Amino acid sequence: MATAEWILIFVSVYVFSLDAAEWHYAGDHGIYEWPQDFPHCGEVRQSPIDFPKVEDMTYSKMTPIEFHGFDDPSKYLLKLENNGHTVKVNVESGDVYVEGGGLPGRFKTAQFHFHWGHSGDEGSEHTFNGHNFPMELHVVNYNEKYGNISNAATKGGDGLAVLGFWYQVSDHDNYALAPLINELGQVPVKGSKLNLTGVNLGLLLPIHMDEYNPHFYRYSGSLTTPPCFQSVVWTVFDNKMPISSAQLQMFQNLHEDKELQGDHFLVDNFRPTQPLNDRIIYRNFEVATTGHEQQQQQQEHQQAPRRKAKVNVRLHLVD
Ligand SMILES: [Zn+2]
Repeated sequence: MATAEWILIFVSVYVFSLDAAEWHYAGDHGIYEWPQDFPHCGEVRQSPIDFPKVEDMTYSKMTPIEFHGFDDPSKYLLKLENNGHTVKVNVESGDVYVEGGGLPGRFKTAQFHFHWGHSGDEGSEHTFNGHNFPMELHVVNYNEKYGNISNAATKGGDGLAVLGFWYQVSDHDNYALAPLINELGQVPVKGSKLNLTGVNLGLLLPIHMDEYNPHFYRYSGSLTTPPCFQSVVWTVFDNKMPISSAQLQMFQNLHEDKELQGDHFLVDNFRPTQPLNDRIIYRNFEVATTGHEQQQQQQEHQQAPRRKAKVNVRLHLVD
């Protein structure tokens, strides 16, 4: 083959890979173009999803999820990073992992990251019966048997275990989030990083969760960002965590890119819910049968705002 042809191939591959790596939530290379640029994003087991009413999920008895090493900050190194799509806490080293809870193996914790909106009435990726939440935390863990996260992410259904937690707006600051939020100003734009000290990963989650066996939902899905690999065992917890409007604002003040600083804020970094298709969603608890318990469940879910709601539902949440 002539040299010129080789150069042409090299240039096309190079340009294609640059294009393929680029994605956004809105505008060029936005959500609706993901399936063209990243074919997995158009497949049938995608995330996030809208969870149906609890009665429409399937009960499966599962042991509590066990959290190992989360509560001992002296044993891990964390790095905070703004990657232009989210703010991430990378677990750089340390023996932090989850197991149990019906997970297919032991999963090492790689990073925490968040999804949020431009206002307090949307921002979560998973929704519950059409209701959404202002922010969602993802704790990303990879199956130890695959050695590292990049390898695990490309494996079938048991490569990654992501734990999802919803937030709801509260009158008061969530003090467990404060040490992390205090550092957000240090990672204002894409590419900024910082060694993070004094953050206890265990405190970011409802503590000692394994002791009281909280309610959670389980299904098979995908990464919610390109390349959308369908390698995720999803666990989304029903317990909502608090965050104040002022704390949420600190996330909303982050920027996507240095060049676009101005008013180009890093917000609305959530993917819309995807079709469930023929997947089964499991819950680890039996549905309440007494009227009182049912009423309690309904009230709890009514506190969350509906996506696309026109009113500022934050007002209802702070009652
Ligand atoms: Zn995520």
